[in-house]
Amino acid sequence: SDVLLEVRGLTVEYAGATGAVRACADVTFDLQRGEILGVVGESGSGKSTLITALTRLQRPPAVTTAGSVVYHPREGGAGIDLVQLSPRRLRGLRWTRLSIVLQSAMDALNPVTRVGEQFVDVLRTHDRSMSRAAAWEEARRLLGLVGISADRARSFPHELSGGMRQRATIALALACRPELVVMDEPTTAVDVVMQRQILAQVLRLRRELGFAVVFVTHDLSLLLELADRIAVMYAGRIVELAASREIYRSPLHPYTQGLRDSFPPLHAPIQRLEGIPGTPPDLRLLPAGCPFAPRCPHAFDRCRSELPQLTPHGERSVACHLREPEEVGS
Ligand code: SF4
Ligand code: MG
Repeated sequence: SDVLLEVRGLTVEYAGATGAVRACADVTFDLQRGEILGVVGESGSGKSTLITALTRLQRPPAVTTAGSVVYHPREGGAGIDLVQLSPRRLRGLRWTRLSIVLQSAMDALNPVTRVGEQFVDVLRTHDRSMSRAAAWEEARRLLGLVGISADRARSFPHELSGGMRQRATIALALACRPELVVMDEPTTAVDVVMQRQILAQVLRLRRELGFAVVFVTHDLSLLLELADRIAVMYAGRIVELAASREIYRSPLHPYTQGLRDSFPPLHAPIQRLEGIPGTPPDLRLLPAGCPFAPRCPHAFDRCRSELPQLTPHGERSVACHLREPEEVGS
């Protein structure tokens, strides 16, 4: 099939003085080969935790306590559960199969090494037969792909603008032709317009190179423009997963509806989620039942006692009691 990643029941907990907090709870979805999946939610919704856990980059006190992330290599054969993989085999997949561009992307470049040299290092580590000259040539080509002129390969990172460093980091992530690129939203150092340009560029490259992307942001309008599907997270759970146009036209979850109604018109300045009164819950003090119930305009009795499960609804999935049949006899 065309599934690249099968995520099942992924759960990440932070150990704390007063017990474990579930930052990411029972997350389940499939990612198709070449697909752009956007993950959106307010801060603290678990979206950054999710992508670090997908790629096993989480650090203590965050620990994956349950679930699997099965990766299906492009050449076929058995799937590989990244959660169970040895650190050595996992390192073997980084860059060549799975690449990661984190929030602090600009710090990913070594400040004392010329930008091109960092490409040469990555390329030659993964292809020992590549000559230095060929690797430099490839570095210049890769920088060109993200709109950075080839002569910048000899620059040090501090000689590039923030946006250029971000793009150089993305080009580096693509250097070994990975099948999956996981990206967290850039830091505020990169402005909104730049962020859109960078993402548009990534999408163009996706069409040429065929990699899949999981991109995390609090900016729903960005995802509506650029993602194939969107996963909406709330309190560590996916509450809705659907094609971008469905999220735009007819969101099913009350939280998604609130998000959709509160985001600004495309290309206008980004605001906070003013359309949804209240604040995200404290994960240490989650209410029984639906975590969104205290803010939900449609909450009813069942919502306060029973956690809604993510359930298929046609082509999409939603976790809301309004959208699932009453259980027989309940
Ligand atoms: Fe609102 Fe209930 Fe649906 Fe939760 S389950 S989103 S409280 S209607
Ligand atoms: Mg974050």
